[in-house]
Amino acid sequence: MHYETPSMVSITEARELILNRVATLPAEDVPLLDAAGRVLASHVTAPFDIPTADNSAMDGYAFATAAWTGKPLRTCGTLPAGEVWRGPVAAGEAVRIMTGAPLPAGCDTVVPLEETVTEGDAVRFTGEVTAGSHVRRRGEEIRAGERVLLAGALLRPQEIALLASLGNGTATVFRRPRVAIIATGDELQEPGSHVQTGRIFDCNSSGIAAQVMEAGGVPLRLGIAGDDAERTREMIRRGLDADLVITSGGVSVGDRDHVKDAIGQLGGKLLFWRVNMKPGKPVAGALIGRTPLVALPGNPVAALVAGELFVRPALLRMAGHRRIFRPRVTAILDQEIYNRGSRPHLVRCIVEYRDGCYHAVTTGEQGSARLTSLTTGNAILHSPPGTRIPAGTAVELGMLGRGTAAGWETPWP
Ligand code: AMP
Ligand code: MG
Repeated sequence: MHYETPSMVSITEARELILNRVATLPAEDVPLLDAAGRVLASHVTAPFDIPTADNSAMDGYAFATAAWTGKPLRTCGTLPAGEVWRGPVAAGEAVRIMTGAPLPAGCDTVVPLEETVTEGDAVRFTGEVTAGSHVRRRGEEIRAGERVLLAGALLRPQEIALLASLGNGTATVFRRPRVAIIATGDELQEPGSHVQTGRIFDCNSSGIAAQVMEAGGVPLRLGIAGDDAERTREMIRRGLDADLVITSGGVSVGDRDHVKDAIGQLGGKLLFWRVNMKPGKPVAGALIGRTPLVALPGNPVAALVAGELFVRPALLRMAGHRRIFRPRVTAILDQEIYNRGSRPHLVRCIVEYRDGCYHAVTTGEQGSARLTSLTTGNAILHSPPGTRIPAGTAVELGMLGRGTAAGWETPWP
């Protein structure tokens, strides 16, 4: 199969070529907890005031200041949260009230228990009393009809709580991307089986699936296509129902590298092939019909690093996220890094917060088949070709995992 082979592109170009082909997925209504971590697809308006009524901010005594002479008050009853006071509170009387209980009609002030002394059924206030204090007013936080969350908002725990407080049992969010995952290579065996001589376990399918899940997508593992041209093509064809297809391996220049041919046979178009980086040069981006495909390298580190760079932002965009890139940190490099090669290196590093700033060192040997160069690290440094970065230089690193720039991995406060 012959068609024009695109030339090698930069990391930025490859990422843009894929991002330009992915659109935000349609919205769906899901149970509130399924919406956690996802992106709101429509504005949310408050159906009622919050608080819904004037209520007590403290456990204490509620009374009307207008008719108060300053003398001790007679306790005329107790009002727990969840109940409503029916009837009047006469001049000279107070209601023992619990936090959150709606203020009895006519009362305007609550004095906290800590500032009272009781004698029989009388209550005396020990401190200064300010009219209107310790009362949460109806609608003081949110008014009925007010827009409280905008479409595009990330639903963190606090937004989920806010939606629940407004009575929502469901939320309208962008759909999760469904991602078909295919491994290639006759040498591969399913983990959990007994490994035969000369063969290795397929770790890319699992690693990529976990990466997809971390980005909020739904992985659909289609299995191992081996090095069979027809099976590779048919598995990719089956994957086209998904929102994105990911293959690993078989996209280099070997006799058994069938992924590019399969893309052509299925009427697909290569957006790029080969990216100027190490690890991860043999990567392709393609479009088959309307379905984007990312062909990742076979070497496990290369596959995961390329997945991090090209797949993760695309999945986040599909799910409606506005922030689709990882946080970065600036760290002091504690060792020299010298890239003697001709391609940019993506160096796996360990970033630690120590003595008031971040420090970075490499994870050691950087072979693209050495998964431990990733498992022992938490960040990636972009090291330009033919360049020496001396120890002591302040460098920027992309963080893997949940780390953010400030206070990373340090308990706070
Ligand atoms: P390839 O690009 O298909 O030649 O693969 C490059 C290297 O990655 C070879 O050593 C493969 O055995 C290895 N490899 C390919 N796919 C996987 C996989 N799914 N799991 C583990 N290693 C793989
Ligand atoms: Mg192979």
